[in-house]
This record gives sequence, C-alpha cells and structure tokens, in this order.
Amino acid sequence: RAKQAGKGTWRFANEQLNSLHMPQARLEVLLRGALGRGEFTLAYQPLIDLGSGRVRSFEALMRWTSPELGPVSPADFIPVAETREMMGGLGRWALHESVREMCAWQAELPGVSVAVNVSATQFAHEDFVDSVRAALHEHGSAPHLLTLELTESAVLADVAQTRQKLQDLGTLGVRVALDDFGTGYSSLGQLRSLPVDVLKIDRVFTQDSETDAAFLRAMISMGHSLGLEVVAEGIENASTLARLQALGCDLGQGYHLARPQPAAQAVAGMVQFRLSSGTGPLQLNR
Ligand code: C2E
Ligand code: MG
Ligand code: MG
Ligand code: MG
Repeated sequence: RAKQAGKGTWRFANEQLNSLHMPQARLEVLLRGALGRGEFTLAYQPLIDLGSGRVRSFEALMRWTSPELGPVSPADFIPVAETREMMGGLGRWALHESVREMCAWQAELPGVSVAVNVSATQFAHEDFVDSVRAALHEHGSAPHLLTLELTESAVLADVAQTRQKLQDLGTLGVRVALDDFGTGYSSLGQLRSLPVDVLKIDRVFTQDSETDAAFLRAMISMGHSLGLEVVAEGIENASTLARLQALGCDLGQGYHLARPQPAAQAVAGMVQFRLSSGTGPLQLNR
C-alpha cells in the first residue's frame, strides 16, 4: 500500500519499496527504461516576488508517471536513481527540457527565469559545468535566466571542489541557490565563503509557530547580511504569506500562491497574476 501525498501522487514508504508489493528491484527496472519511454515531465511552480507581487521565476519539478505504478513522487524515485547511476541522464534531461521551455515562455513572460534542481551526484560529476554551458548554448539562453538549486549536502560533499565549481558557474553567469536551507549541517563560516546567490529556506521553517517565526526572522536577516536573495518555500496560507512579507523575505513559493503545473498552464496562470498591494499585506488576486 502507498500513502497519498498531495494531489494524485503516491508515495511509497521505504519498507514498502522493499516488500513483495513493490520490490526495489522492480522500481529500478521500471525507472531505468522510463526516460526512453517518455514517462517523465516537468511541472513548474512560480516563485513570486513578495515586493512587486509578480512572478520572477519557475522551479522545474520532475514528474514520473509510470503506466504500471501511476504517478511516483520524486522523493521516492530520485534517491533510487541517485544510487543506481541513473541520475546523470535524468538530470541532463531536466536541465535541457527546462531551459528549452523557459526560452519558449520568454514571448509571454519576458525575463522570467527557471530554477532547476541538481542532485549531489550530478553536481559532483567533473563535466557538470560544461554540461550547463552546453545546455545554455544549445537553446541560445541568457545564463542569468537559469538558477541551479543545490542542497547543502551536495555542496558540502567536497568543499574545495565545490568552491571551484561555484566560481565557474558564477563566471558563466548562472545563478546558484542553496535549497532546503536550515535542514543540513552547513556552518555559517562555510556559507559565508561559498559563492551562492540565493538562500532557499526549507518549508519546515514556514510553519506558523512562534519558534519558527524566530528562526525565519534570523535566517532572512542572515541571508540579507550575506548579500543573498532569500526565498521561502512551502507557503500554504495567507498568514504565512503576510508574515514573510512583513519580515522582508524577497521571494515566496507554495501551494497558497500556485501549485506545480505543466508549463502551458503554469505560464497561462502567471500572465495575469499579481499579488495586489492594498494598505495591508499583499493579498492573492486572480
Ligand atoms: P524541493 O526542490 O525542495 O522542491 C519543493 C517541493 O515542495 C516540491 O515537491 C513541491 O511540489 C513541494 N511544495 C511546493 N509548495 C508546497 C507547499 O506549499 N506545501 C508543501 N507541503 N509542499 C510544497 P516535489 O515536486 O514532490 O519534489 C520533492 C523534491 O524532489 C524536491 O524538493 C527536490 O529535492 C527533488 N526534485 C524534484 N525534481 C527534481 C529534479 O529535476 N532533479 C533533482 N535532482 N531533484 C528533484
Ligand atoms: Mg528545489
Ligand atoms: Mg526546497
Ligand atoms: Mg524542500
């Protein structure tokens, strides 16, 4: 049995993957052929500028719909792909596909960029920076319209190597975001010395408790003192949105603003979108 996580997406607990119902080996076999069979798509979720109320960027999120299993969450298949050396191909596909779609939406949403998640093994590959350069070149994209989202664990695996790669990406002109910030173990010292552009606060900190409010305030001001742009993910209601705006958080993302959707719908939904700024905190207005 699988438990439902979000609309129409089935998540398998680890023990279930290993059970007779869904042997890990079976998932691997299905996953291995899935890219070739065209079973992957990308869903796009907007990042809204909390000052202007306008869409700034879309995060590309991988979706796998297996004819046999139905929709499988990336939280289930990405760890399998990582350990079975399938993430290279998947990551390359996601990079090319998202840059291609971002170039296409420039006609409707000029200047709106795309953010792509990069896994630890993908980032660790020696050809990584070259593959990013190649993707930009192939689609004729301006580098500043691409942000790469890296997690703390990916960045800290090999700090010396990482710093060189981040510098090369900076020279290339792409932006780098530290994803799920606050859940890993990077020290302030390390953060200070890494050339990243964006801090993406994990959604565990965007809940509505007092403790989280204090953490949020601290993380936002820390990000700003390091000269970084700060994004909050997991905004699920109006009060969280209002609180983040009051704290001066730069960008927001979450179900309350918009859900991840196929490119065409995501773009159409944002052409008219604007958070209205009345006297009080910005309100949803669509
Ligand atoms: P992430 O990069 O931190 O992405 C944010 C996740 O939060 C997404 O889950 C998104 O659908 C979900 N989310 C957005 N708004 C809300 C909200 O208001 N509330 C809640 N509870 N969740 C929200 P998703 O799409 O299931 O992806 C899960 C993770 O899988 C991502 O976390 C990312 O780490 C990984 N992932 C997804 N696509 C890719 C990819 O192309 N490459 C790599 N390497 N990893 C990916
Ligand atoms: Mg991300
Ligand atoms: Mg995140
Ligand atoms: Mg996350």
